[in-house]
Amino acid sequence: MSEDGIVELAHLVQRARRGVVFTGAGISTESGIPDFRSPGGFWTKHKPIAFNEFLASEDTRLEAWRRFLAIHETIGAAQPGAGHLAVAELMARGHVSHVITQNIDGLHDAAGVPRERIIEIHGTGTHAKCLGCGARHEIAWVRGLIADTGKPPACLACGGIVKSATISFGQAMPEQEMADARAATLNADLFIAIGSSLQVFPAAGFPVLARQNRTPLVIINREETGLDGLADLTLRGEIGAVMAALLERLNAA
Ligand code: NAD
Repeated sequence: MSEDGIVELAHLVQRARRGVVFTGAGISTESGIPDFRSPGGFWTKHKPIAFNEFLASEDTRLEAWRRFLAIHETIGAAQPGAGHLAVAELMARGHVSHVITQNIDGLHDAAGVPRERIIEIHGTGTHAKCLGCGARHEIAWVRGLIADTGKPPACLACGGIVKSATISFGQAMPEQEMADARAATLNADLFIAIGSSLQVFPAAGFPVLARQNRTPLVIINREETGLDGLADLTLRGEIGAVMAALLERLNAA
């Protein structure tokens, strides 16, 4: 992390009134939730289960639920980290209007970002949904049912397939959230991507859209991302440390 980079970021943030922060799994690793691609991340252990595989077989659904329930326990114990808290602070100070997140862990909410300002484009892990009728089901109910029957859950209302309310590879993106994210991006006067490898599309299309709209694009990540070449400013480092340095700089100004 370079001092010059922090100074430049602080200048950009100070001028921003409708900034968008776009986050990926990297902002939550300091809270103890592994990301996908780093050493020890989910993908180093399991190949992700695509949506069509989930639909195709009861055994695969059971395996998907077992993995999800393990992750859900980790998420349930996690607290927001310095990165989440700093993003909430930037919003409270009037520099950021929306957080677009790929994360399903609810930690922006827990950090105090108002719910209506959080756009969860990959859904949420807080509950499950029937793929048939859309009925909501609680994760605790699914956990109990799998423990009792050894079978994946079926909807109590219509008998349909129940899935965590997250978006899997190959599953359609949520229309309202995608529209909200697009509107926030087009309205943004600064776009900051934090903790994402920026390899998962269509999500990574939002920083591209921001840049096409001539909005300054900042990327904060510990390693190179797929879109560094587009950015006006890239900051390499640990998210907690970068965001703490940013707040210190803003407070000193
Ligand atoms: P990713 O794993 O592809 O990329 C995460 C990036 O963050 C990596 O480039 C890594 O180097 C960087 N990183 C990790 N910890 C960091 C730290 N402390 N400081 C700085 N950089 C750090 O994740 P993605 O781009 O978000 O895409 C994966 C998909 O899986 C997304 O949909 C994602 O949200 C989802 N996912 C979500 C969670 C969660 O909800 N917490 C966890 C894993 C995966």
